Amino acid sequence: MLSGMAPPRFVNWARNHRVRVLARHEPEGEDAVAALVRDVAARGERLRVVGAGHSWSGAAVPDQHLVSLDRHAGVVAIDPDARRVTVRAGTRLRDLVPVLDAAGLALENLGSIAEQSVAGAIATGTHGTGLGHGVLATQVVGMRLVTADGGVRVLDEAGGDDLLDAARVSLGALGVVTEVTLRVREAFDLEETSWSLPLEDAARELPDIARAHEHVKLWWLPHTKRAQVYAFAPTSAPRGGRSRLAERLDAALNRTAFPAILGLGRAAPRAVPALNRLVAASYFKAGSRVDRSDRVFNVAMPPRHLEMEYGLPVDAAGDALLAMRDLIERGRLKVGFVQEVRFVAADACHLSPASGRESCQLGAYVGRCRDADAFFRAFEHMALDRDGRPHWGKLFSADAATLAPRYPRWERFQALRRELDPAGVFSSAFTRRVFGPG
Ligand SMILES: Cc1cc2nc3c(=O)[nH]c(=O)nc-3n(C[C@H](O)[C@H](O)[C@H](O)COP(=O)(O)OP(=O)(O)OC[C@H]3O[C@@H](n4cnc5c(N)ncnc54)[C@H](O)[C@@H]3O)c2cc1C
Repeated sequence: MLSGMAPPRFVNWARNHRVRVLARHEPEGEDAVAALVRDVAARGERLRVVGAGHSWSGAAVPDQHLVSLDRHAGVVAIDPDARRVTVRAGTRLRDLVPVLDAAGLALENLGSIAEQSVAGAIATGTHGTGLGHGVLATQVVGMRLVTADGGVRVLDEAGGDDLLDAARVSLGALGVVTEVTLRVREAFDLEETSWSLPLEDAARELPDIARAHEHVKLWWLPHTKRAQVYAFAPTSAPRGGRSRLAERLDAALNRTAFPAILGLGRAAPRAVPALNRLVAASYFKAGSRVDRSDRVFNVAMPPRHLEMEYGLPVDAAGDALLAMRDLIERGRLKVGFVQEVRFVAADACHLSPASGRESCQLGAYVGRCRDADAFFRAFEHMALDRDGRPHWGKLFSADAATLAPRYPRWERFQALRRELDPAGVFSSAFTRRVFGPG
């Protein structure tokens, strides 16, 4: 008998996916997960694990059975000497960070938010920024994976095969991750320095900017001429430069003023360029601050919006950034949201956007508006033309035929997937589009 039934509905954070499912399950403990997988497989049905539902793509959208590991969360063990932490897969990053901090430890790198589950974040190649730092999945040194036969695979770096590299960024297609062991480091502070420069200069100097800073990202508001650079460097300087009050104000603005500006742009698209210039003038300032690493990596939660992002060879990224500006101007598109440039180290994960090459992650972001579809279509076309690889957690329309030649270890991943899940228990409409029907 299947357990843990709840209202059978899935809606993701951005609310661009709403589906009914056969059943929702919240197993607690690995044995319960394994029993559930066996049960679903025996019925010839399919299941998908949903993490925090923070993907824009259909990666987390279940066809039939929705499995949430929200009740399978929490820290299992911390080893400060070996700099390792083991967590249950449903643990949210935001819950892990303070536990690590209390133990004098921290994650090496983080993205812009910490709302994601650990397993969900790694499964799509979620990343922070810095050419010396891989996607978060590269911090994984071990994992427990329940496969389609209900068995448990214990994967670690000493395993001698490439299953851990495949399972690090797996889109949920190899099995249910129940436990993850992460490499961590001693707690650290970061100094953030920000400044602006003309977009054209930023584009020309992009590879140099990327190599000059341990962590660096660029923000650019369409219809403006300058890009804002944020560089973060580990420091032992005293904390300061921006009060908690200013942070709370930022969060409040993101909840109130920012959605109002997006609403104004939606109602009157012709006002978007002027609104963007106003926002850039009041928000993009030169400055610096020192704070705990996660508080610098993360930003205030943005209002609901849509994102597409492509990983590009670093040397192609400056040209892509200008091409992005040109396609907005040529198409007379009104884009009232910041665009983002980040960097990721090359890795060996089969499906990582940085598989086998350093990557510049170019993000196309937009509030819901008239021009959103046209913007994404033109952006994706431009990025695919430059050997781009999509962020699996964000919007993209590329299918298996387009994707396969872009990843050096694509075929190997498909072979492992067929071996571990021959009946497609972990497949979904999304995986069938991305991997093909087989
Ligand atoms: C506001 C916002 C900011 C963001 N910022 C960043 C950023 O800075 N950098 C970045 O790279 N991305 C960013 N993202 C994207 C986000 O990190 C990814 O989409 C991430 O995968 C979401 O994690 P989740 O826990 O919500 O997983 P979900 O979206 O629920 O699931 C993602 C995938 O993980 C699989 N999965 C989840 N749990 C398991 C499990 N236990 N076993 C096997 N498979 C599993 C799912 O089946 C699915 O395929 C952001 C998203 C939002 C909404």
